[in-house]
Amino acid sequence: MGLQVERIPTLGDNYTYLIVCEDSGEAAVVDAPEAEPVIARADALDVKVTKILSTHHHYDHSQANPELAKRYDAPVYGHRSDDGRLPGLTNGLEEGDTITVGRQQARILFIPAHTKGHIAYVFDDADAVFCGDTLFAAGCGRLFEGTPEMMYEALCVKLAALPDATRVFCGHEYTASNLAFAAHVEPDNEAVKKMIGRVETLRAKAAADWHDATPDEMTVPTTIGDEREINPFMRSANAAELGERRAQKDSF
Ligand code: ZN
Ligand code: FE
Repeated sequence: MGLQVERIPTLGDNYTYLIVCEDSGEAAVVDAPEAEPVIARADALDVKVTKILSTHHHYDHSQANPELAKRYDAPVYGHRSDDGRLPGLTNGLEEGDTITVGRQQARILFIPAHTKGHIAYVFDDADAVFCGDTLFAAGCGRLFEGTPEMMYEALCVKLAALPDATRVFCGHEYTASNLAFAAHVEPDNEAVKKMIGRVETLRAKAAADWHDATPDEMTVPTTIGDEREINPFMRSANAAELGERRAQKDSF
């Protein structure tokens, strides 16, 4: 028995996750801007929500924390530096801390860049990382509060250290537009072309309203292994090599 991950579409293109320990029936909510769809899913699965987890303080990842915390009488986790701005925060976390969801354990990566209090939750045994708006499928989040060096550290050092099989549960369904950029940066990347095909097939089934989205149109999760091949930001460790290839091409 392991960790069940329910993808709940929220707002316009956000992913909220309900993660369930299949042994105990205990559950945690990750990044909830709306309470109603989360409550509906938890009720449908008949699970007990015991923790509210946020990757960062932006409203589209945390707005429903107080309402959910009250309903489930559950603590709210996030980076401790976000005390005062992350809605409902009760339990501040730091790099290397661990939390449990039933019998499943996550360790905390501190990955400031998109915001200065951004964290990721890594469930090593379940091959899953919840990385908010830092790493997206084929892209990365905007630098609202950090520097490019901090994003490099987050993507190419900390997240890149995870095994290839790790599933990447990110904060938004941005994959199609991210891939268009990836193809622009690396026009000859076969893995990018292949992923574009896969994503076009999935997105062709898209519901008119994201709230009605079902798993068969969701491009998330990819894996860390996928991202190593397609993500231009995660691949920036190879940037010198890429720059050389582009320079050669442009000179023709
Ligand atoms: Zn954000
Ligand atoms: Fe966001």
